[in-house]
Amino acid sequence: MDNAAQPPNLRWRRVLLKLSGEAFAGDQHVGLNYDVIGRIAAEVVEAVKAGAEMAIVIGGGNIIRGGTAASKGMDRSQGDYMGMLATVINAMALQDSIEQLGQPTRVQTAITMTQVAEPFIRRRAISQLENGNVVILAGGTGNPYFTTDTASSLRALELKCDAFLKATNVDGIYDSDPKLNPYAKRYNTISYEEAIAKRLKVMDLTAMAMCMENKMPILVFDIGRAGAIKAVLQGEDLGTLVGG
Ligand code: UDP
Repeated sequence: MDNAAQPPNLRWRRVLLKLSGEAFAGDQHVGLNYDVIGRIAAEVVEAVKAGAEMAIVIGGGNIIRGGTAASKGMDRSQGDYMGMLATVINAMALQDSIEQLGQPTRVQTAITMTQVAEPFIRRRAISQLENGNVVILAGGTGNPYFTTDTASSLRALELKCDAFLKATNVDGIYDSDPKLNPYAKRYNTISYEEAIAKRLKVMDLTAMAMCMENKMPILVFDIGRAGAIKAVLQGEDLGTLVGG
C-alpha cells in the first residue's frame, strides 16, 4: 500500500467510520448477521483500495446497551461495561470478515484484553493506519456513561482524521422523523449549532459538541445503500454534512 506517495482522488483521506451495533444485526435487530457483516466488510475494503485510511469504531447495541440494562434494574456502570465488551465481539467479527478479503486489520481496545486484541495506543494506531491497516477500535472510550458516538469523536480527533463518517440506517439528517412524517425534509448540510439547537437526533450531544469545538466534519449517511462508503469518500452528494 503506497498511500503516502500517491494521494488518492478522495474528498477525505483518513476517516473515522462509526458503525452501530444495529448495523451488524440486519433485519433481526439483535445478534450478528454474518451476511450483513460480510457486505460491510467488502465495502470497507473497497474504500481502502480506493486510497482511504480507515479507523472504525463499532457499537454494541445489537448485543447490549447499558441504558437498557439500567432500565431493567441493573447497575448502570455494570451494564455500560457489558456494552463496551459487546463492541469487542462485533470488532472481532468485522476483523475476521475484512481479513478474509485479504485486507490486513488491527483491533485495539480501550479495555485491555491482550489475548484477543491490542490495547489502544494512539501513536501505534496512527502508524498502523499509515501502513495500510484497517484499525478497528473497540471498547468505546473505556468509560461508563459514554457512547460509541463519543468514542468516535474522540478517536477521530486524536488520530487526526479528516472526517467522522457516521453510518446509520437513514440517508441523512431530517428536520423531523421521516418514518413518522412523510413531509420530513433532509438537510444536505447543516451547522453544528443548528443540529444541537434543534436537538436533531444525529448523535449524542457530547459527541456533537466535541466535533463542533474541534471543527471535525461529520457525514451522516445510509450504510444500507450499496457502495455508500466509497461513494461518500469520492464526494458523491449523499447524506448530510454537519460542519465542514
Ligand atoms: N458504552 C460505554 N462507554 C463508551 C461506549 C459504549 O459505556 O465509551 C456502552 C454503553 O452501555 C452503550 C454500549 O456500550 O450503550 C454500546 O454502545 P452504543 O450504544 O454506543 O452502541 P451502538 O448504539 O452504536 O450500537
